[in-house]
Amino acid sequence: MDDWQRLMKGVLRKPEEIARKFGLDVEEVRRIAKVFKIQITPYYAGLIKERGDAMWRQMVPDPAELKEDTGVADPLDEDADSPVPSIVHRYPDRCLFLVSHSCASFCRFCTRKRKVGDPSKIHPRYIEDGLEYIRRHTELRDVIISGGDPLMLSDRRLEAIVKAVRGIPHIEIIRIGTRVPCVLPQRVTEKLVAMLKKYHPLYVNVHFNHPDEITPESSRALNLLADAGIPLGNQTVLLKGVNDDPLVMRRLMQKLLAVRVRPYYIYQADYVSGTEHLRTTVEKGLEVMESLRGWTSGLAVPYYCIDAPGGGGKIPVLPKYLQSITDEQVVLRNYAGELFIYPQVKPKPKRRPRPATAPCYSFDGAPPTP
Ligand SMILES: *Cc1c(COP(=O)(O)O)cnc(C)c1O
Ligand code: SF4
Repeated sequence: MDDWQRLMKGVLRKPEEIARKFGLDVEEVRRIAKVFKIQITPYYAGLIKERGDAMWRQMVPDPAELKEDTGVADPLDEDADSPVPSIVHRYPDRCLFLVSHSCASFCRFCTRKRKVGDPSKIHPRYIEDGLEYIRRHTELRDVIISGGDPLMLSDRRLEAIVKAVRGIPHIEIIRIGTRVPCVLPQRVTEKLVAMLKKYHPLYVNVHFNHPDEITPESSRALNLLADAGIPLGNQTVLLKGVNDDPLVMRRLMQKLLAVRVRPYYIYQADYVSGTEHLRTTVEKGLEVMESLRGWTSGLAVPYYCIDAPGGGGKIPVLPKYLQSITDEQVVLRNYAGELFIYPQVKPKPKRRPRPATAPCYSFDGAPPTP
């Protein structure tokens, strides 16, 4: 058994333990635990400084979770794009490959609350089917290994999966999505990164939501990964009372860069049952984005996306920098609110009238089917 597996044995998950540790009503915690899995690593619990702080809100169960049944368990309609249980294939050339039902800590705002921690939903026996699907679908060139958290698998099981994916000729890049460097950084070992670096080009996307999550321990884990030549990206979820504050978010993005992690996405929190108390407005998201662009390194500015309910995918949302656009000119607003005009190139004389609406072509350049 590795050290990190020993650490997982000490994870907080019994309602009695959770109630005692955080001063909650044990009956209430039991009721929540029946609906949404509860689990917190001792390391992450150690980052909580006071009741209701940013780390507390992400992991400690809240009675509000049971009062907020929106009836939406699968907000992104992932099940509809799931040809086999371990695959979500929504975009033309890439797919998610769900290989682990488990996470080190279960986030209260998780989009896949319906699946995480439930071995019947993401089961090892689905992995072979997933590999078979990826082998058959030669249009795929990018596989995102996700879950749950893939780093909850042993090195041996994870390697078997990564190696099998790497062995598929049409797969150009492999990505691993994980929250482990944030919630259980001890799991990132020399042995793990020595294994991963054999399967380049391999990217790792991590998940940090607050600057106080960047600690000496998580920095060590991220440095190990970066030293193995693994490009690191970060995905953040915009959460009320956690990071819905321009200064907090800016600090997070800057601290990520300092540990060689490039901010990739900020997501508007998904519309998922039991998470209303953690959602905030899109206006707040735009305000956060306005506070980044121009005011700090461009490298610190990720895309802000809403993952469209109903399976529309990630849609980027930008503050209104483009104020107007005509054949003559474009009116632009800069980060400080000043207006500028960019003259358009003079249009060539037209031979044919332009279609009223722009034609849309599918990814392979074929004309759309009506
Ligand atoms: C997020 C996501 C991806 C990856 O999207 P990128 O924009 O390429 O990072 C792929 N498939 C699904 C279903 C996703 O939700
Ligand atoms: S680590 Fe990711 S998959 Fe796991 S509970 Fe948190 S958000 Fe959900």
